[in-house]
Amino acid sequence: MPVEQIWEATEPSEAKALVGLTDAEFAPVAKRASELRDRHWGKTISYSRKVFIPLTTMCRNTCGYCTFVKHPGDPGANFMTPEEVLAVAMKGEQLGCKEALFSLGERPERRYAEARNALARLGHASTVDYLVDACRLVLEHTKLVPHVNAGTLTQDEIARLREVSGSMGMMLENVSRRLGKPGMAHHACPDKTPLLRLRTIEAAGRLGVPFTTGILIGIGETWEERVDSLVAINDLRRRYGHVQEVIVQNFRAKPGTAMANWMEPSREEMLRTLVMARLVLDPSISLQAPPNLEEDFEAYLDCGINDWGGISPLTADHINPERAWPAIAELARRTEARGYRLVERLTVYPAYLGIETAPLHSTLANMARADGLARDQFVA
Ligand code: SF4
Repeated sequence: MPVEQIWEATEPSEAKALVGLTDAEFAPVAKRASELRDRHWGKTISYSRKVFIPLTTMCRNTCGYCTFVKHPGDPGANFMTPEEVLAVAMKGEQLGCKEALFSLGERPERRYAEARNALARLGHASTVDYLVDACRLVLEHTKLVPHVNAGTLTQDEIARLREVSGSMGMMLENVSRRLGKPGMAHHACPDKTPLLRLRTIEAAGRLGVPFTTGILIGIGETWEERVDSLVAINDLRRRYGHVQEVIVQNFRAKPGTAMANWMEPSREEMLRTLVMARLVLDPSISLQAPPNLEEDFEAYLDCGINDWGGISPLTADHINPERAWPAIAELARRTEARGYRLVERLTVYPAYLGIETAPLHSTLANMARADGLARDQFVA
């Protein structure tokens, strides 16, 4: 039966009611989510073999849960040099990586003289300017394709980055404006204004950029706000067709952050959120959850996910450095034990590889096999 005939958009009110179900009532709903994934994505679970390039650790925001950000004067507060960027990318290439994930702080030059000075020494006036050059460098000297995760961006900035990247991303996190109030996760974070983030996703849609977004759960939002966030993402996808994947990520409390003592979302909460996401989102959107933030990550497979995200054989998860990624061979083994086969995809999903107007169309087409997955499969 075609997927369209078994998927009827789950109404927000229905999704909001899922939180109140007993375990026994919830079990068949989870089964429905899992079956929906099977029908659309089959018995394969994908991942992207990547290196992580934290172009700058400085950021003008100060999210309450972030250990990535470094303030000027802190050890590690810096911009990577072009030589450092290339060294990571080339090492990744030797290890079979295909994606260079540029993940970085947002516009530190708007807040810190030290960031402006560091950029000036590199010959640039803004982080985005330098990012465009760094992506080009990777494209010119390696076979890796950049995926840009640079936070909120204007349409002009996205247009420039589109020329040198295969895809882009930015976590919506949540549409709740409450989270920006004093004492909340996004207080004093200008780029975490939900409207700005929705506008960034929309601008990427206008330009047809394959886009990754997602929600971060357990940062002070309600279940209803989680549903509203996924509905907002789904609406943008309906209008522009560009959201290729949605990540559901669970907050982990980290020492040294403002939210070090916050309660983490329970495993059960994460599982219910994944099920809800699979049912709310169009089934052609890839649903991803990180395997390094939960010991028993196989349970996610029972909730409708079809992707483990970017996993690196080289670089650490710089956002959660205390949580090592599972070795890819282990991920393959544990995925298989649940009845699914691990496959390697590119940063652009198969359904988006046919966009001939995309600047990197032929590069990506050459890296893909007939079904759109990576031609050279590394699942160990
Ligand atoms: S989570 Fe991102 S936006 Fe927030 S402080 Fe860290 S680097 Fe900046």
